[in-house]
Amino acid sequence: MLEIVDLHKRYELKTGRPVEVLKGIDLTVPDGSITAVVGPSGAGKSTLSRCISLLEMPSSGQILVDGRNLSELSGRALRDSRRSIGTIFQHSALLRRITVAENVALPLRNLGVEHGEMEARVAELLERVDLLHKADAYPGQLSGGQAQRVGIARALALRPRILLSDESTSGLDPRSTHQILRLLTELRADLGVSIVLITHEMEAVRAAADEVAFLDHGRIAEHGRVADLIGRGDSPAAGQLLPVHP
Ligand code: ATP
Ligand code: MG
Repeated sequence: MLEIVDLHKRYELKTGRPVEVLKGIDLTVPDGSITAVVGPSGAGKSTLSRCISLLEMPSSGQILVDGRNLSELSGRALRDSRRSIGTIFQHSALLRRITVAENVALPLRNLGVEHGEMEARVAELLERVDLLHKADAYPGQLSGGQAQRVGIARALALRPRILLSDESTSGLDPRSTHQILRLLTELRADLGVSIVLITHEMEAVRAAADEVAFLDHGRIAEHGRVADLIGRGDSPAAGQLLPVHP
């Protein structure tokens, strides 16, 4: 389970003036649940994602994974804890000079996992995203949707408890989008991961999310069950979402 408690993030600008981008975020994502985060450009969605994955340290507040506060760790404990969070990036961020299998193996290699075990785990991960037949291909030989699925396999390599997806279906065709969303809903059911799905697509929220939080100017302005908010004319969260087929 992911719990975010009173999370603040300030950046120091070159002028020396601090700017507060996250102004006290409270958000809980239970195991096996998908929470969509929507909101206008500049609202702080990617900043929130980077703070949860500890790529950036929050200015204050807590990030708890299964009750453990990650935001107060440092050094080795912080490195270890980062493993419990997997990130799927917008443009998959695969290394182009190594194969699909080598990309998925990277997090395991960095941990020093033994070769045989690593190969078996990579095969299992590629099987899960239905791309075992592309193991020896290079990222440049994949479609956008396939590259995203490899990104998901890589994000799962270290068996994370939390998966973050920041606009991972943006720019994909409807079929690939559907495949990715189905994969995410399978993962939360099979592995019990908590998923934060940052998106601006109505279809993504409707198809995959249980709850939706509307982030505006660094605050959560609205949060509720998808079924309750989508389709309600006065919901700012619903108003932010774009149909996939305009
Ligand atoms: P989008 O929908 O366009 O991706 P977003 O909701 O993801 O937007 P963020 O990227 O989190 O928005 O940015 C939120 C605000 O924080 C913006 O005003 C941005 O300029 C500011 N910001 C982000 N990173 C930094 C940084 N490293 N230093 C200073 N300001 C930053
Ligand atoms: Mg963003």
